[in-house]
Amino acid sequence: MKVALRHEGDEILVDARAMERLVGVVFERAGCESVEARRIARRLTGASLRGHDSHGVLRTHRYISWMQDDKVFAGRSVQIEHETDCLAVIDGRYGFGQTIGEQTVDLGVAKAKKHGVALTALKHSGHLGRIGDWAERAAQAGCASIHAVNVRGSLLVAPFGAGERRCGTSPLCFGLPRADGAPPIIHDFATSMVAEGKALVALRGGKTLPADALVDEMGNETSDPRPLYGKSAETEVPNPSAGPGALNVFGAHKGSGINFFMEMFAGALTGSGTAAVSNERERRSLCNGMFSVYIDLSSLGTADFFEREIEDYIEYWKSARPSKATGEVLIPGEKEERILRQRSEEGLPLSQGAWEDILAGARKVGMSDEDVEAALNAGLA
Ligand code: NAD
Repeated sequence: MKVALRHEGDEILVDARAMERLVGVVFERAGCESVEARRIARRLTGASLRGHDSHGVLRTHRYISWMQDDKVFAGRSVQIEHETDCLAVIDGRYGFGQTIGEQTVDLGVAKAKKHGVALTALKHSGHLGRIGDWAERAAQAGCASIHAVNVRGSLLVAPFGAGERRCGTSPLCFGLPRADGAPPIIHDFATSMVAEGKALVALRGGKTLPADALVDEMGNETSDPRPLYGKSAETEVPNPSAGPGALNVFGAHKGSGINFFMEMFAGALTGSGTAAVSNERERRSLCNGMFSVYIDLSSLGTADFFEREIEDYIEYWKSARPSKATGEVLIPGEKEERILRQRSEEGLPLSQGAWEDILAGARKVGMSDEDVEAALNAGLA
């Protein structure tokens, strides 16, 4: 008999399939159709399985709160506002990003498959979660892709040189398919030094942050996540908008400029709106904008060369002598693939605080401890 949950030292390890079932039941109880509930659960569990706890099952409670506060809506599909052969401007209508993201990528890929290259400009999507999911979906269909994302209504990050917030964590993601069933190459990261969810994980007792990940209200760099949340750090749903401090941008002045362009492409060009705080109340509600480019690799006529060149280059890259600081040379996405294998086997590690947070989300939709146990254990053999 497989065990759904076990304690190891300070950590709780939860079998990934059991966790996916539990999260699915929570979203069904919250009012999602079963297909959508399972889709959300699969994506959140998938992010946790790849080591992105910040965008994984730890989001359950916050998503439920957003749903109950009418910030995100179950059962919504994309609406195409304008399209040509090669582009689509899409309104996500504040539907769940796990649904809106899939539909958007499928549209972009279908156009790229017909015309070689395509753009999608998505506005007003519910939280799109781990952006790598969308590059992976495009790669599964043989497309390389780039995704620039902004988080309107979420002022969390200080630009280079600033001691206060002016932008969001705006993730950028690149994806490339590989030949012979090898996992696609995905580079997916927030343009803040750490994603907000990583600050939440640290606040909940998980992995600590780099020494200069945040700036506090006095303008000092710190690894302490509390300046981001202020007094709400002590509550059930810590609010990253409530604190006097900010996350720092990644890559100093160069990263700061990339973050600026995320707001331009994903916020301004899509019609979604930037993170700017203006007097327009509408602009301040939370959503993701995503500007994506898809390239069907078979349309360039270089596919064979390209495939060989990728594999040669990976070998060359990884053959570099490791530095003393890091000890090994990885390609983008390699770390996630490694963690995926490990966690699929061993389970998802959660701090006690993170587990309590998931239970609080379950209670919010009326689940008892017995309901949680039944959902975790259903189907385990
Ligand atoms: P991160 O700092 O862990 O960076 C991840 C990227 O760096 C991956 O491509 C990974 O393969 C690569 N990487 C990590 N270690 C490496 C190493 N030693 N050598 C080579 N490459 C390495 O990620 P992050 O910035 O914390 O972002 C986490 C997640 O948060 C992402 O999935 C992102 O899409 C998501 N996010 C989403 C939103 C949203 O609004 N939807 C906002 C911000 C972030």
